[in-house]
Amino acid sequence: MHDAGVDVVVGAGHNGLVAACYLAQAGREVVVVEQLDRPGGGSRTEETVPGYRFDLHSVAHNIINMTDIPAELDLAGAGLDYIEMDPFSIAIHQDGRRVRFFRSIEATVESIAEESPHEAHAYRRFVDKSLPMVRTVLPAIRGDSSLSVLPRQAVNLARAFRRQPLTTARDTISPYDALLRRWLPSDLTRGPVAAFAAHAGVGPTVPGGALFAFWQGAYHLFGQWHGRGGAQNLTDALVARLASLGGELRCSSPVARIEATAGRVRAVVLEGGERIAAANVVTAIDPKTALLELLDPALDGEPGADLAAARRSNVVQAVVHVATNRLPPYAGSRSSDWNGLQSYVDHLGDLTDAWHQSEAGRLPDPLPLYAFTPSALDATLAPAHHHTVYLACPAAPARVEGGWAARKEEFVERSLDILEARAPGFRASITGLASWTPDEMERVERWPGGHPMYLDIALDQLGPFRPTKRLGGWRTPVTGLYISGAGTNPSGGIAGTSGRQAARALLADQR
Ligand SMILES: Cc1cc2nc3c(=O)[nH]c(=O)nc-3n(C[C@H](O)[C@H](O)[C@H](O)COP(=O)(O)OP(=O)(O)OC[C@H]3O[C@@H](n4cnc5c(N)ncnc54)[C@H](O)[C@@H]3O)c2cc1C
Repeated sequence: MHDAGVDVVVGAGHNGLVAACYLAQAGREVVVVEQLDRPGGGSRTEETVPGYRFDLHSVAHNIINMTDIPAELDLAGAGLDYIEMDPFSIAIHQDGRRVRFFRSIEATVESIAEESPHEAHAYRRFVDKSLPMVRTVLPAIRGDSSLSVLPRQAVNLARAFRRQPLTTARDTISPYDALLRRWLPSDLTRGPVAAFAAHAGVGPTVPGGALFAFWQGAYHLFGQWHGRGGAQNLTDALVARLASLGGELRCSSPVARIEATAGRVRAVVLEGGERIAAANVVTAIDPKTALLELLDPALDGEPGADLAAARRSNVVQAVVHVATNRLPPYAGSRSSDWNGLQSYVDHLGDLTDAWHQSEAGRLPDPLPLYAFTPSALDATLAPAHHHTVYLACPAAPARVEGGWAARKEEFVERSLDILEARAPGFRASITGLASWTPDEMERVERWPGGHPMYLDIALDQLGPFRPTKRLGGWRTPVTGLYISGAGTNPSGGIAGTSGRQAARALLADQR
């Protein structure tokens, strides 16, 4: 053992596990401490309804499949098995219109043309515009900082700005509500593209949110993926890989304090009082909690003030798990319609209004909603001939008027009504129900404000500015203390990038 102790990773979400695997792979002695009795954080699948396994949070794993993390850690060799969700999304408009978004741009354009050739043409232009944008930001999302990517990035940047550079600059810093109104003719495609951007946790009127609507192009490039057995598949593969590399995972071990003296991290102290001497500490939890509450003494001065100012809005997500004996019977459905995200956002304007209502602490009306039906692709999740229907509201208030305990039933019923209106007879197929609301996410997952990204996704809180400009390089002013997780550079979601980059920073400092 290192004479000052082991490397301690705080939090066994996927980012913490990724960080730990890279450290162990480099020969470091690593312990991951997790407050819950099980690992995974936002990448967990549980039997919330007896006999049916549901993802608690993430269903679609996209960004991690754009990185080489699964290959570098040989996660397939540890059991990782992703199934492609194609089409990656479908618009289930209440008036019966359908638009299918396939990995193939051609097939998508054909699908839109069935409803409107004019809209199909506009969508193709929009995707053509988005692809060089996606390719430009991809290295940052992947954590690829090598100089060799620069020439290609310059080419992509030039392609993105080749035509009408000023208009493109304006588009890039736009909110996506405005962007989609300019580029797409109607709610036929605006609604579902916005629903996908909202699923990433970005508000329609946030300046710079346009990037998340342009990100639609990334799904055409890389597809969307479901882990066999659910999001838990990624967690299980990371845990197995960590064990094979000699790392240790300790669950039911909540961290109460990260001890530092003379500007150097010394130890992690658990809530039960146990002190684990640490050579280095990598946090993979909310960075504000890590550095302003757990770190002792807390980060102060300008770095502390900057971090305290990082924003977290009231708009988060809430989920309903519906166990059924059939898939939602959408009129005019085709066999692949349940493979990906099913958007029930008919109007972009409704989504934008919902965001404002939710920010003000109201349960939005109408409720924006999307569904995933992973059992359509994966027979391991439900009994034979039964299904798992995951409903999520991407604009749910963390703090709601009257409190979630009093509003939960209304939320569930209104969610089911929205689905019933699009799939008449659906309610009769329900065999069990569970809900998972922001108050529970805050309590169980220790997500302040129930925020799955810890901090809002906004231009000034993304990439090297996440969580703050000073802390955007995964290092902190405390020697030996590193930060990772959804609230750090580059962003949230299932990516693993921040975990890997924090581990790389630590390893570079050792050298
Ligand atoms: C409804 C919903 C749907 C989502 N869908 C998707 C999706 O489809 N695709 C996608 O990419 N993302 C999705 N997300 C977001 C995604 O789940 C998160 O951004 C992601 O899980 C963050 O991962 P992480 O490893 O950074 O942190 P987390 O997963 O939050 O892990 C942090 C871990 O730290 C532990 N911890 C906290 N405090 C302590 C402490 N004091 N001591 C020890 N351990 C501690 C927690 O218990 C947890 O296990 C969704 C989120 C929600 C809420």
